[in-house]
Amino acid sequence: MNTRITLPTSRRKFIGGLGLASTGGLITASEPAAAPAKLPAVDVLVVGGGTAGTIAAIQAARMGASTVLVEAGSQLGGTTTTAGVDFPGLFHAWGRQIIAGIGWDLVVRTVELNGDKLPDFSRPPAPGKHWQHQVRICGALYAALAEEAALQSGVRLRCYEFPTAVEFGAGRWRVSLAGKGTASELVASQIVDCTGNAAVVALAGLARQREAVVQPGTLIYKLGGYDVSQLDLKALDQAYRQALQSGHIQAADMLGGVRGFLAAHGENAMHVPGADSSTSAAHTETNVKGRQSLLRVLRFLRLQPGFENLRVERLQAETGVRETWRIVAEAEVRVADYTGGRIFADALANSFYPIDLHDEHGVKPRPLPEGKVPTIPRSALVPKGSRNLMVAGRCLGSDRLANSALRVQASSMAMGQAAGVTAALAAQKGLSPLQVPLAEIRTALKRHGAVVPG
Ligand SMILES: Cc1cc2nc3c(=O)[nH]c(=O)nc-3n(C[C@H](O)[C@H](O)[C@H](O)COP(=O)(O)OP(=O)(O)OC[C@H]3O[C@@H](n4cnc5c(N)ncnc54)[C@H](O)[C@@H]3O)c2cc1C
Repeated sequence: MNTRITLPTSRRKFIGGLGLASTGGLITASEPAAAPAKLPAVDVLVVGGGTAGTIAAIQAARMGASTVLVEAGSQLGGTTTTAGVDFPGLFHAWGRQIIAGIGWDLVVRTVELNGDKLPDFSRPPAPGKHWQHQVRICGALYAALAEEAALQSGVRLRCYEFPTAVEFGAGRWRVSLAGKGTASELVASQIVDCTGNAAVVALAGLARQREAVVQPGTLIYKLGGYDVSQLDLKALDQAYRQALQSGHIQAADMLGGVRGFLAAHGENAMHVPGADSSTSAAHTETNVKGRQSLLRVLRFLRLQPGFENLRVERLQAETGVRETWRIVAEAEVRVADYTGGRIFADALANSFYPIDLHDEHGVKPRPLPEGKVPTIPRSALVPKGSRNLMVAGRCLGSDRLANSALRVQASSMAMGQAAGVTAALAAQKGLSPLQVPLAEIRTALKRHGAVVPG
């Protein structure tokens, strides 16, 4: 049935202003696509509103910088929210808080508003159980609070958009943006690339690196409607082996075999081999593979006794990706720097996590030596040979093993805050990030609640 909607006069005038014609209730548009809209120039453009980028944008705006945040997806938070890795860590090490600031505040506010609880940080985690100090949050609520904080800080938010070209000249970036029904151009003094894949760095023609075989990703979901204590586990083992042989199940679908997977209710217990998010095509394939895996698991379990009430309790919209591109930076954090707790001369933030490299069998985290707290230098956030450009988040300059720990959320948030301060000061002073006096960056970071190493 075709329903025509009649619009009130005021609505018709509004539609006229958008270049559309309204005849009663049917809207038609026949003009050729308009030239790209010229957006007002800004001090700081943050690309990627994920774990790091959200914090970078809020911080830059709170420093008084006019700030635009461009996010390709529908909400803020990236891997923390859309991919459902809603257990950020680690903010504490060896009995003290080593990362605080805007990210930590948002995490605490999310916990409080949802009536959840923070872990007891006064007690060290049990050996090998660093995750006991990760904070369980409601990802969707975190996204809402992050968005509110960004808007209150004055960040101009542009979701569903991404840059298609960037060019640096005369001390400014000219950026072409595309999105749903929009094409625009923007001039920015500074860019902070928080895309997780160093997408702007690539557009600028600067060097990135990646492994030939990257770590697997994970589609976060949770199954319910069964009671492990009531299952015939031996029979299940047998059925699982047969399903593996026949190809109805793949090894990466259920980490830890059927028993480990069921005990975890499937949560963070599968792998998507080769997961990549650095192009639309690769990201589409990664998401499809994640959902196909879930469907294989559901169809297999449905046939087994004890799963009559099997149900999907949560299912994220995107497969989480652990590893893609890292920048070739002015300085690289190496694994010996990380495990040795090196305090870089230009350190702006702490980081703390076991070395955490996943492979097809899972992960065996390697805890840091007692008392060590690694640091993140400014020069690892600056692409080599660049001007007026920084990154924050998992794509920082680092070797693979160091990156497997540096990439985590508390560290990404701390990098975001450090990059936000540096970019705002750089814009204010007409400098490139490496030229901004370190003392001024550190003072501003402390004023905004961050923990600065040393
Ligand atoms: C399965 C899994 C488990 C993990 N476990 C933990 C854990 O237990 N604890 C922990 O702390 N960390 C964990 N991590 C790591 C951590 O979650 C990520 O490394 C971190 O969130 C990455 O942050 P980011 O800001 O670099 O990227 P993201 O949070 O992914 O943000 C990137 C953002 O940029 C946007 N974007 C991308 N390209 C463009 C573009 N061209 N234009 C505009 N926007 C763009 C994306 O939509 C996204 O919003 C895990 C990761 C995964 C995948």
